[in-house]
Amino acid sequence: MARTAEKSAASEAPVAHAFQAEVAKLLSLMVHSVYSDRDVFLRELISNAADALDKLRYEAIAAPTLLGDDPALKITITADKAAKTLTVSDSGIGMGEDELIDNLGTIAKSGTQAFVERARQAKGDIHLIGQFGIGFYSAFIVASRVEVISRRAGSEAAHKWSSAGEGNYTVEAAAKPSRGTDIVLHLRDDAVEFLDDWKIESVVRAYSDHIAHPIMLAVDSETARQINTANAIWTRPRAEVTADSHKEFYGHITGDYSEPALTLHYRAEGRHEYTVLLYVPAERPFDLYDPERRGRQKLYVKRVYIADDAGLLPAYLRFVRGVIDSEDMPLNLSREMLQNNPQVAAIRKAVTNKVLAELKKCAETEPATFAKIWAVFAPVIKEGLYEDMERRDQLFEIARFRSTKSDAVTLADYIAGLKENQTAIYYLTAEDAVKAAASPQLEGYRARDVEVLLLTDPVDSFWVRTALGFDGKPFRSVTQGIADLDLIKLKDEVKPGGGDDAATATLIAAMKQALGPRVTDVRVSKRLTDSAVCLVADGAMDRTLEKLLARQKDSGVAVSAPILEINPGHPLIEGLAKSVKEKGAASVEDAAQLLLDQAFILEGEPVADPAGFARRMAAVMSKVFA
Ligand code: ADP
Repeated sequence: MARTAEKSAASEAPVAHAFQAEVAKLLSLMVHSVYSDRDVFLRELISNAADALDKLRYEAIAAPTLLGDDPALKITITADKAAKTLTVSDSGIGMGEDELIDNLGTIAKSGTQAFVERARQAKGDIHLIGQFGIGFYSAFIVASRVEVISRRAGSEAAHKWSSAGEGNYTVEAAAKPSRGTDIVLHLRDDAVEFLDDWKIESVVRAYSDHIAHPIMLAVDSETARQINTANAIWTRPRAEVTADSHKEFYGHITGDYSEPALTLHYRAEGRHEYTVLLYVPAERPFDLYDPERRGRQKLYVKRVYIADDAGLLPAYLRFVRGVIDSEDMPLNLSREMLQNNPQVAAIRKAVTNKVLAELKKCAETEPATFAKIWAVFAPVIKEGLYEDMERRDQLFEIARFRSTKSDAVTLADYIAGLKENQTAIYYLTAEDAVKAAASPQLEGYRARDVEVLLLTDPVDSFWVRTALGFDGKPFRSVTQGIADLDLIKLKDEVKPGGGDDAATATLIAAMKQALGPRVTDVRVSKRLTDSAVCLVADGAMDRTLEKLLARQKDSGVAVSAPILEINPGHPLIEGLAKSVKEKGAASVEDAAQLLLDQAFILEGEPVADPAGFARRMAAVMSKVFA
């Protein structure tokens, strides 16, 4: 690549580099941002500096020489009123030349595009920036030029990155007496307020007080005073941590500055000692389904940051964010060793149980809060129903489902409402709530006042197949097989459907012939009361699941031909049966095709032969209107 050539030159004169197109877009957004809350830039730069200090402290466990003769880990803010510069310095890990180019010229993470789009739509509102892991660039909200002078710990060489935020930046060799990074902001004229001590202090207090490293404000070239408390929030007694501090800390680790829905703060004692501070967000993170999503729960050992993703909670709780700080794990644990570490496994087990217990408690004592959490995270939590067999019943206890009778029914409530002779928990899977509620499959259940769970998350199709049941009752799809419906009494006002058995049998034969391979069978339905026909799956898989799998490449699943069920008591079916008897099988051919097409449409599926459908429809209508 061209970079090698550029690199050798970089040691002499500034070398110009173009920003990656995504970065350029992002920068133009920053430069023209109308966002009123400009303070965020300082919070983001301090957050990056704190991360750099954490990284150094971690690397220095294995390589203590990285600290050299300067063990102090701190952040220093210097305001130069004459030069109109604000400098955020850290004595952290620092960046080499390549890192400056990679980290501050390109964005590797997915989702940046989404961020730029969202911010554009919100007319330059960029308050989500921290969540997208691109905080550095917010410096350009207040600065007309940004310089980053950095020296990697353990190296003698330093480099200067410099940009006015317009399409390109330069990198050149520089002199820096100590390791770490100085971010120098040449403030715009309208941003000089950030040179005032009180302003800097108030921003740091508001957003960065919890940063566990000292943040110093330079008083003159010799002295500096500390402006944050610098103790890790999770080490403070629970009762002393205010909701505001939680919000600030939660914001720091997630980039989401709204109030978390649930806070879990406790100290575990016993065989393993550790402190847990976890939050359940109130909003859906943009990358909830991103397989690369990182930084769910941070692992610390005795206040030293170890890893972002130590697998401290199972994937289905990936939305839970926070810190777990162990008192008794060895500090020199490499990240690779974490995976098989028995202590990590023990903590994971205990914390997972605790989180589930807390969710359950929330569901019982604060149903409104829980409803919000469930609305956002149910599709993820339900992954646990097939990934974590051991805790399936615990998960079932907190699960809420939409049903034909309720917006949020628990399985315990469902069981309490079973009808006489009802032996299963009935469910219908569908692509959305509207399709589910309109499904003709439900008629026979409604006629018997039997509640049916309406499962509309894709994940539902998967867990429901492997779940053995709840409270001794199996889950049973309303679209599969003939359920034990006959044994359940019809509501008094519902008359059982009639129909002449012999005539129906002749009609079925005629329809089978007309429909050929489009169906695997045509048969009498027990589930219909109002509609003439419906589709049911032939075989072990539900049609919704079949469709889901068929859409995935390489699944090897194709949607099979369904069974068409007919309602012999329906006037249309009675009429068709009569027609077969009087005019022969050919007389119902078009009607049979149309009925099948209509059943597909109800399931949200396309009509296989639109031209044929239109022709038949026109033919049938002209019999009425011509
Ligand atoms: P994020 O910090 O979320 O990864 P940023 O755009 O803010 O995203 O920063 C990009 C990268 O630049 C960081 O991941 C880090 O590797 C590097 N970086 C930023 N600031 C510093 C710093 N003060 N010291 C060392 N590295 C830094």
